[in-house]
Amino acid sequence: MTEHRQPEVNIGLVGHVDHGKTTLVEAFSGEWTDQHSEEMKRGISIRLGYADATFRRCPECEDAAGYTVAETCPEHDCETEFLRTVSFVDAPGHETLMATMLSGAAIMDGAVLVIAATEDVPQAQTEEHLMALDSIGIENVVVAQNKIDLVDRERAAEHYEQIQEFIAGTVAEDAPIVPISAQQEVNTDLLIEAIEEEIPTPERDSDADAELLVARSFDINRPGATPDQLTGGVVGGTLLSGELTVDDEIELVPGREVESGGQTTYESITTTLRSLQAGGDPVDSVRPGGLLGAGTGLDPSLTKGDALAGQVAGPPGTLPPVRDKFTMKIDLLDRVVGADGDVDEVSTGEPLMLTVRTATTVGSVTSARGGEAEVALKRPVAAREGAKIAINRRVGSRWRLIGIGTLDG
Ligand code: GDP
Ligand code: MG
Repeated sequence: MTEHRQPEVNIGLVGHVDHGKTTLVEAFSGEWTDQHSEEMKRGISIRLGYADATFRRCPECEDAAGYTVAETCPEHDCETEFLRTVSFVDAPGHETLMATMLSGAAIMDGAVLVIAATEDVPQAQTEEHLMALDSIGIENVVVAQNKIDLVDRERAAEHYEQIQEFIAGTVAEDAPIVPISAQQEVNTDLLIEAIEEEIPTPERDSDADAELLVARSFDINRPGATPDQLTGGVVGGTLLSGELTVDDEIELVPGREVESGGQTTYESITTTLRSLQAGGDPVDSVRPGGLLGAGTGLDPSLTKGDALAGQVAGPPGTLPPVRDKFTMKIDLLDRVVGADGDVDEVSTGEPLMLTVRTATTVGSVTSARGGEAEVALKRPVAAREGAKIAINRRVGSRWRLIGIGTLDG
């Protein structure tokens, strides 16, 4: 019998484009996360994809061989035991999509860094994604050395050493490295074992107020649906704390853009939760962990095309303050990842791309001095003091991660 359980932990898939992240998610979940037609065309995950998988174990098998996603052990023909359901967050590897990777990192409890054995280590986004995990402080990392079916033993060993050298001194220093073939499903049992050991389910405070980070939002109606056929806007994201129940009233901040007297401001939105989905099933309530979908009473035009991505939702009056400017303390990286050269100090007047949890906004530096900067934001964010901010600067033709800020009021 299939058990449907809410996922309890979010595991990011990170690494260079084409190294096999989406293939690995598919091996575990049976779902191909590159679902958007544009992504299919371009063959890359433009936005975050996610899929749930349930890890199980055969009670008869010895050691790691028993770890599986199958309900029946092919070896012993017995039913396997439920371990836990996890949610995979499939980050894009394409170089212009660092912001998406960073907003995904905000909802990852741990990560699998996928590195293909067919290329030398590190490729650009392998390095950049590891730096991002390092900066944001995602410490529970497993390295999947993928595509071992395409290399000989000698090359696999040499590549393994390159990985060890590359992760030394980073947050992934002690991460297990598991040689696999995602496509041929070789050693995926060992990878599940490593994930079970390295990426535990975090303890959550379910008595706290609910706080939902919105990562996606959709209009699920067909074009041409008549008003009485319309389904309210849908938001997707992860609950950091508390519990949400169908019929709860929620507030979303910063909310919607309103024009008045030539000025653009934001007004928070209040709506009712009409339905909840977790682990692929409709549920009455959700607890933290995994990714959820929530049907709301909102006009679907408000949720269309990820328009509400980056917002925070919860009981009215409990949410972080909305800021259109803030001061942050800055820790710069030693060097620009993926480009040559040292990181120059942040200077007054320069534009920065800032990622605060799942929100991304462009800010202009209004004053910078001694490791601190004040920024005026193009679009406001909802954030509390102490929030971590990924700071990106335009270098050449793209934004590059240059440091981490801490919100200081
Ligand atoms: P992503 O960009 O990291 O999500 O990479 P994909 O999962 O889309 O994989 C890129 C290509 O590599 C696809 O053609 C996959 O079929 C192939 N691939 C992924 N894993 C393996 C593997 O373990 N062995 C082989 N031979 N090919 C693989
Ligand atoms: Mg992919």
